[in-house]
Amino acid sequence: MLWIIASLFFCWLIYRELTSSMLVSKPYLSILIILALLTAWPAYHRWRFEHLLNSIAQQLAENHLAIVHCNTLWDTLFDEDPGVGGHADPQTGYIVIQYPRCDDLMNYSKHPANASKEELYSLNILTHESMHARGEYNEAKTECAAVQRNYQTAILLGVPDAIARQNAIAYYKNYYLHQTGIYFSKDCVPGGALDEHLNDSIWKEPVPELQD
Ligand SMILES: [Zn+2]
Repeated sequence: MLWIIASLFFCWLIYRELTSSMLVSKPYLSILIILALLTAWPAYHRWRFEHLLNSIAQQLAENHLAIVHCNTLWDTLFDEDPGVGGHADPQTGYIVIQYPRCDDLMNYSKHPANASKEELYSLNILTHESMHARGEYNEAKTECAAVQRNYQTAILLGVPDAIARQNAIAYYKNYYLHQTGIYFSKDCVPGGALDEHLNDSIWKEPVPELQD
């Protein structure tokens, strides 16, 4: 938001310079244009990335509507549910990703081979909320559908195949299997009641990463 305000301020200075009755200073005008573009860039970059997340959520939600909104810090402070990484309305498909999870996803897509715990969590949040947009209300089923699709999400983020698979398995093995409570189900295992037998399942054999 601050970048947009700064950019608008420089645009206003450009407008004032161009409509002034005094002679326009070309060097001054050039500096203003550069500053307006530089301050607009972070907002544009963020808008483009949000657009990509939107497209990924729509693909994961299959034929259901999915609209992603990346909350700023300010949005998160005043969000209805700031204590979670994201939330979605299965009826409207409106997905909110809390600050700084979209930034985590952007960083993850830049260095997926060195994904941090927070980045893997953020990857799963995007998938998890997309599963709600797909129509699932039950948290354990939603989370299990997500762990089976984190690989797809990573691929859609542009992550190379082998790394995407590694990251999805790492989330399942290192974080999902250590969860308790409403997000966890003992049926979320290869061959279990919640196994969707997806063609690109991370549980397909051979999966040496799951054998130790
Ligand atoms: Zn949920």
